[in-house]
Amino acid sequence: MERRVYLRSDDLDMNVDVVGCSQAVDGTFHVELSATLIHPHGGGQPSDVGTIGQASVIRVIQVNDDVIHICDREEPIGSACIQVSSPHRVLHARLHSAGHLIGYCGERLGWKAVKAHHWPGEARVVFEAGQGMELMTADTIERLANEQVAAASPRYTFQEGQV
Ligand SMILES: [Zn+2]
Repeated sequence: MERRVYLRSDDLDMNVDVVGCSQAVDGTFHVELSATLIHPHGGGQPSDVGTIGQASVIRVIQVNDDVIHICDREEPIGSACIQVSSPHRVLHARLHSAGHLIGYCGERLGWKAVKAHHWPGEARVVFEAGQGMELMTADTIERLANEQVAAASPRYTFQEGQV
């Protein structure tokens, strides 16, 4: 069973099992689940927040193959309902998608997108000059991005191994 259900599902709640819960030195609780929809920090994007049973999920990190949910209170071993905060998920997804779209538009102008950061309030894409690049302005990027949005292309995802 794939435990990282967030990779293939946009669902915001599901029933899972709490398989581990330990208190960290900072007083938070590190909760491990049989499966999760709550996306960890990574890829330039902050983690989702949400709930596991009665506990609030403050942050989620990935440590090797484990997804650790950092919570404000202890959650007992056993079944629990998990919920992803929809407003946070939507904001993070929009900022992340916008970053990739801006990167794509910049590359159409001959620039190379080398770095992206999708955090609220500080989202950005860093470009390096490429061969034969054209002048990049906010108006040009906005026009190219609006053309892509108007095209309403379908979302396409795939997985290769662990990526
Ligand atoms: Zn990305």
